[in-house]
Amino acid sequence: MTDWLFPPAPTASLPISGRGDRFPVRRILCVGQNYAAHAREMGNARADPFFFTKPADAVVADGTDPVFPTATANLHHEVELVCAVGAEGTIVGWAVGCDLTRRDLQAAAKEKGRPWDAAKGFDQSAPCGVLTLGVLPDPAAVIALAVNGEMRQSGRLDDMVWNPDEILAKARELWAVLPGDLIFTGTPEGVGPLEPGDRVKATIGGLQP
Ligand code: MN
Repeated sequence: MTDWLFPPAPTASLPISGRGDRFPVRRILCVGQNYAAHAREMGNARADPFFFTKPADAVVADGTDPVFPTATANLHHEVELVCAVGAEGTIVGWAVGCDLTRRDLQAAAKEKGRPWDAAKGFDQSAPCGVLTLGVLPDPAAVIALAVNGEMRQSGRLDDMVWNPDEILAKARELWAVLPGDLIFTGTPEGVGPLEPGDRVKATIGGLQP
């Protein structure tokens, strides 16, 4: 048994629908520009998907409210389908997630050609709902997000440029995709700012919040 200098950090995890056990999160891959209309609203003529990452401990689960982050005057919501990689290295489950983004820091990073970590991979930047094991939600399912009861984002899963199987294949060209990995699959159009205290409701047809 290993003696640690101090106790290791707890493993980030997601609850699983209908089960008492939990999904242990290893790390988080995210796809940017995976919906054409969102790529356009961000100033890109066409969607050209790519990966970035968040640390595993960015996950916020069990309906906990994320802490409003420091160092931003423009926190944005991005509702996303989250794929969960299981013991065999395949996608075994699905959840609704929010890729919280310090849009002002992202814009500054883009301008200077610097990394996005502070814009995307900050503490509590990856709220997730309950994981549902099984087959992919209906590709025609609506993915949507409302703020204080007002609809802000609405799209369909089959608006994705790379579908989940393609995302997994592309990710494997770059990383060993292993059990416990979560993949945020990109957001439809309508991203926008959040204020402290806003009530955010992110939904994907057939998935638990
Ligand atoms: Mn995103």
